[in-house]
Amino acid sequence: MKTFYIETFGCQMNAHDSEKVRGTLLERGYMQVETPDEAELVLYNTCSIRDKAEQKVFNRLQQFKRASGKGKVFGVLGCVAQQEGERIFERAPHVSLVAGSASYTKLPEMLVQLEAGNRRVTGLSLDTDETFDTPFTRRDNPHRAYITIIEGCDKACAYCVVPFTRGPERSRTSDSVMRETRSLAESGYTEVQLLGQNVNSYRDPSPRGWDFSQLLTNAGSVPGIRRVRFTTSHPRDFVKSIIDAIDENPALCNHVHLPVQSGSTSVLARMQRLYSRDEYMRRIEWMKNAKRDIAITTDIIAGFPGESEADFNETLRLADEVEYDSMFIFKYSKRPNTAALQYDDHVPEEEKTRRLMLLQERQRAIQMRRNASYVGKTEEVHVEGFNVATGQWIGRTTQNKTLNFSDAALPAPDEGQTLVGQYADVLVTRAGPNSLTGERVRESCVQ
Ligand code: SAM
Ligand code: SF4
Repeated sequence: MKTFYIETFGCQMNAHDSEKVRGTLLERGYMQVETPDEAELVLYNTCSIRDKAEQKVFNRLQQFKRASGKGKVFGVLGCVAQQEGERIFERAPHVSLVAGSASYTKLPEMLVQLEAGNRRVTGLSLDTDETFDTPFTRRDNPHRAYITIIEGCDKACAYCVVPFTRGPERSRTSDSVMRETRSLAESGYTEVQLLGQNVNSYRDPSPRGWDFSQLLTNAGSVPGIRRVRFTTSHPRDFVKSIIDAIDENPALCNHVHLPVQSGSTSVLARMQRLYSRDEYMRRIEWMKNAKRDIAITTDIIAGFPGESEADFNETLRLADEVEYDSMFIFKYSKRPNTAALQYDDHVPEEEKTRRLMLLQERQRAIQMRRNASYVGKTEEVHVEGFNVATGQWIGRTTQNKTLNFSDAALPAPDEGQTLVGQYADVLVTRAGPNSLTGERVRESCVQ
């Protein structure tokens, strides 16, 4: 039996791609091992969204350079593979496979070539209208399942490599997505997460022609499915019917991740984001006016070329106005092939760091306030684990907040008894900036 090891970098799309690659390999008779040392085939599924992520992969490859003499085969998959292409063979001659995500449907053929001893196997074409649909996906998480509904990206944000690394936008048919959702429910999953670089740009290519809101509603109506999440939404394609769907179907989680990137309309224009600050705020208004209490999270890029102090202050002001439940802040990173590389007014590194820290500090106070408003409320959590160090169960609310809690009736996993994978009602007793703490309430105690 041939053995393989796979390490994944980057986003949820990559994590899920790795689950599909894993399934494809297991199906071909490979066995997964826990360390690269034990493996004959070592795969890195890579991310190139920022320079640091890309460097990590090359460091990893350097680390195992010497092992190549011992009959190991190395493969680079994902965004760095697509971006660097055959240059990887020059930088790391012990690599034998370089394949971007748009070529994964050809993975079985590439494996045949590798097994035949070919040491320069590539899958680098972006010219595809296929999605990587495979019946062999092997999921890591037994309780929450990822489902890719749309791959690639047709936008052209001035800072971003994704359109170059993941190819053009292509949606799966609604029939195929619904079949997968039903089959997951039948095998015991109660929570699914619909994935796409711009998940809400989904457009059913079959004659049924569902849009994203229709797909959401239908996925949320599958018997056995209690929670449907989705990420990432692009503000330009974010329509009111998505909020209406959430309002009407409690299985759709009341959390929207809507990356704004900047609070300044002029920076947004130079980023080629296709919306203004006002247009973005209109979408926030829809969410604030919804019947359900929708948690809103975002991504921000600090120090995009030409971002002035006044522009940055607009972002601080926007953060105050929206009161996000959580925020990912990234320092702008120069990426190959992108339009922003040509911009000449780059912000110095120290200034990017200063802005990032200022925003982090501001956001921490906002999160503290937001989370404090949950103290005294009872929230339903999906239980994900148990923390031995704190003696608490780890749960997640529909709004995607971590809620650690104690349970007097089951203070720890015991004789095969566990809460993991179950749902529990928890009274929130304390709040921190990044999580909530509480105590489980049994049905008879819920007011
Ligand atoms: N499609 C999503 C959207 O348009 O909002 C974002 C997907 S991207 C993979 C995830 C995040 O990485 C972006 O929201 C952005 O904040 C960040 N990002 C992308 N390129 C970047 C760059 N060159 N430098 C810093 N952050 C970047
Ligand atoms: Fe990148 Fe923009 Fe596409 Fe998002 S919409 S993946 S940020 S190019």
